[in-house]
Amino acid sequence: SICLPDCLKRSASRFPDKMALTFQGYRITFKQLNAMVDRFATGLADFGIRKGDSVAILLPNVIPCVVAYYAILRIGAIAVMNNPLYTDRELEHQFTDSESKMLITLDLLTNRMIDLRPVTQIQKIIYTSIGDYLPFPKNLLFPLVGKKKKLAADVKPAKDVYRWKKVLARYPATPPAVTLAFDDVAMYQYTGGTTGVSKGVMLTHGNLSKQIQHIMAWFPTFDSNEIMLGALPFFHVFGLSTSMNLAIYTGWGNILVPKPQPPQLLEAISKFKPTFAPLVPTMYIGMLEHPDIGETDLTSIKGCFSGSAPLPVEVINKFEEKTGSIIVEGYGLTESCPVTHVNPFKGRRKVGSIGLPIPDTECRIVSLKDGLSDVPVGESGELFIRGPQIMKGYWKRPDATAETITDGWLHTGDIAKMDDDGYFYIVDRKKDMILSSGYNVYPRDIEEVFFEHPKVMEASVIGLPHAKRGELIKVFVVLKEGKTATAEELMTYCQGKLAKYKWPAEIEFRKELPKTNVGKVLKKDLRAMELEKRQ
Ligand code: ATP
Repeated sequence: SICLPDCLKRSASRFPDKMALTFQGYRITFKQLNAMVDRFATGLADFGIRKGDSVAILLPNVIPCVVAYYAILRIGAIAVMNNPLYTDRELEHQFTDSESKMLITLDLLTNRMIDLRPVTQIQKIIYTSIGDYLPFPKNLLFPLVGKKKKLAADVKPAKDVYRWKKVLARYPATPPAVTLAFDDVAMYQYTGGTTGVSKGVMLTHGNLSKQIQHIMAWFPTFDSNEIMLGALPFFHVFGLSTSMNLAIYTGWGNILVPKPQPPQLLEAISKFKPTFAPLVPTMYIGMLEHPDIGETDLTSIKGCFSGSAPLPVEVINKFEEKTGSIIVEGYGLTESCPVTHVNPFKGRRKVGSIGLPIPDTECRIVSLKDGLSDVPVGESGELFIRGPQIMKGYWKRPDATAETITDGWLHTGDIAKMDDDGYFYIVDRKKDMILSSGYNVYPRDIEEVFFEHPKVMEASVIGLPHAKRGELIKVFVVLKEGKTATAEELMTYCQGKLAKYKWPAEIEFRKELPKTNVGKVLKKDLRAMELEKRQ
């Protein structure tokens, strides 16, 4: 078992001239990637970064994102991944909470980050430009970089702000030798914040490399000639592990898609022919609904992996038909790197199930009543997980850690059940469960009924405080384009399909629902808006 930076070294010696990353047609080999990582690591050390210091990365899926991450890990520093779409308020929280000393970002964001720097502990900023890695003559790039005909955005003069290319050019590939132990923290990965304040999850070198080894042990159908689609953002742990790290470990090339919208996804697949695609449900749905899907050749894809939210059956069927691939659904959470369960590629896939635990992963389903005893097979309870991918804890939050991990068991906060064959099913999130008139109501049961309605595109169900009933059920509905419906019509529809205690008290139509970067509905925001309205 080796740590991630050693995995890259190994791939560089096994496959020196194989493509490691492709960005807009610009390719670098494993040997080049490894050398860039070493040069950048030398630079970081010269800038004063030491083992245990944290360094923030604020980048989409571009070559410097991969280089910076591996360089930080190589010298034993701690990587803090951030979403480039976050607001200053969200970034300030992650930068200050993680005590990041340095930031690697895009030129387009640099002026904003220079202004934000004084309220954080960040001293130095390194910025990269889209033009740093583009092989074409400038005139072909205008559509990509806008009318200004510039390959780099203007950055105002400021102290301790450096250009990526210059830093790379200045340093030799001779980083200081640092001993990495499996228990050393490699990154603070901030939780999505769908349920509360975003916490820094401490993932160790051991967590991250074991995760990859166990996923690969579970996917024996694939060999070293696969090509990865790098569309899931690497700043989220799902893309980080199942795309970036997996491809480097296995020696697969990775096609970077910095803006994973349906047209860019379709283009990247048809042009660069990836064979393996980890994606989230909204990406499959977005591609299938795009008008160009008919003329786009997606048949290079052999295997897909879906997680982060439930994947509707029609989507699986349609996408498999279109690509000739197999989609396996899996499950996980930030606190577990993230993967803990996946359906097998060969063998029985069960639709609607998150599959079987990956190797070395133990599971329990624990009673919601006492939080201690295991429930019988087939019954629902909270899913507890123990394994080598479980986080070391929450950074600077020993109380939250003690609440979440007991005797090595991670309390996932998800309600699940297991069938007789050992396959697991996610019923709902514990925090989203509604207690209405003394009954436990799972929002997902109601959402599924709404999803089946021909006029409904999306639906999200929350519980709101109610004096008599405990909680009342409210549904937010987004209708399909061009469709109209009334609340009464939908109410009558679901009354025919749901037990009375699950009937919604209110239905509200929305143009769209608030979502996280991986397309999950932010129920906490919906709830907060409602509570504010009712005050
Ligand atoms: P926070 O932890 O801050 O509330 P988050 O929910 O976005 O934010 P993540 O760690 O990104 O945190 O997501 C993990 C959650 O995603 C799981 O706990 C589970 O509720 C949900 N999830 C993941 N995969 C699936 C799946 N295949 N089916 C249903 N739900 C899933």
